[in-house]
Amino acid sequence: MFATDPGAFRAAASVIPAIGRAADHIARSRFDRPTLVIDSARVAAQYDALAEGLGAARIHYAVKANPAPGIIRLLVERGARFDAASRGEIELCLAQGALGRDISFGNTVKRPADIAFAASVGVQLFVADSAEELEKIAANAPGAQVYLRVIVENSQADWPLSRKFGCAPGALAGLLDHARDLGLAPVDLSFHVGSQTRKAAYWLPILDHVAGLWHAARAAGHDMRVLNLGGGFPAFYGEPIDTPRAYAAEVMDAVTACFGAIPYIMAEPGRGLVAEAGHIAAEVLLVSRKAPGDLHRWVYLDIGRFSGLAETEGEAIRYQIDTPHDGGETGPCILAGPSCDSADILYEKRPMQLPMALAGGDRVMIRNCGAYTSSYSSVGFNGFPPLDVVVL
Ligand SMILES: *Cc1c(COP(=O)(O)O)cnc(C)c1O
Repeated sequence: MFATDPGAFRAAASVIPAIGRAADHIARSRFDRPTLVIDSARVAAQYDALAEGLGAARIHYAVKANPAPGIIRLLVERGARFDAASRGEIELCLAQGALGRDISFGNTVKRPADIAFAASVGVQLFVADSAEELEKIAANAPGAQVYLRVIVENSQADWPLSRKFGCAPGALAGLLDHARDLGLAPVDLSFHVGSQTRKAAYWLPILDHVAGLWHAARAAGHDMRVLNLGGGFPAFYGEPIDTPRAYAAEVMDAVTACFGAIPYIMAEPGRGLVAEAGHIAAEVLLVSRKAPGDLHRWVYLDIGRFSGLAETEGEAIRYQIDTPHDGGETGPCILAGPSCDSADILYEKRPMQLPMALAGGDRVMIRNCGAYTSSYSSVGFNGFPPLDVVVL
């Protein structure tokens, strides 16, 4: 029924219709392994909407969200810039037509040879959050522009990124001075509110805090020219979110109110640009009960934590799943992947309601999976193939 009838996918009124090119393609196709289907027109539409809302801020796409060459090429054609984390990501962007000067090297932990490579191909902006990283940049990309990442507290993100990256606010002044002493050009600040920050209002206390640091650094004589807002722009996973344009515009209004005029503002959306453009075609391998009277069924899919659904860690990101039996009676299910690893359980603390009729062999569609799936997929743990990607 799935194969012939795209209408088999439920379009509940509370759900942004996922019926579109990617869903149609999945409904019409048979895949022999889990496959992420990306609608490039949807990526373009998200880009345009975000760009409109961001106004003067330039988009540097966070390549790690989805490094499919077709996506990078499309974004190059639309005038996007890029945030890369490694030599590999820089080479990918260059191969798809990006210019080195339009790529920022946004990982606070870089290999020295990668820094030298980046400088040799024209990358001009580098991030750091420590004295040692500044020294590596000075040694391998003398005179480069650097921006310093600060830790932000009070993240209300579903997938926080706060602890691992950034310097403490109190360390900032010393690092700016150190960068200048090393012959680098310290240009500014960056931060990340945390990925999947569902409401623009959650940015306000963070912007207020970062603006305090910004104004203090300027008062200390630093030439503050670049503000990097990072990512955090949300995708729809079932809880309501604003449109990308309205969300971005609200963030920018707050930026203007807190910071005043800034020569160059950059934003680094990853998830918000690509998540809703892709759905994964997957298959149920087994539905079982551990004991005959158990309330919960275990549903094992052919995709799991190691083959693309890593963000189910801690049950942080809750994907929506369409099945051929939607509309029928449902019951609680523990959802798991296919590998022989007990960490490969997707949802257990909060079981998923899935149709009672669900059975092995059923094909399902996991919605809005265009971000952080293919890039998280292992090369073949337990012999299960990595997530295949089709860009329409
Ligand atoms: C991952 C990452 C992003 C993208 O974050 P999203 O929440 O997916 O938009 C942006 N900037 C940096 C430095 C990142 O590491």
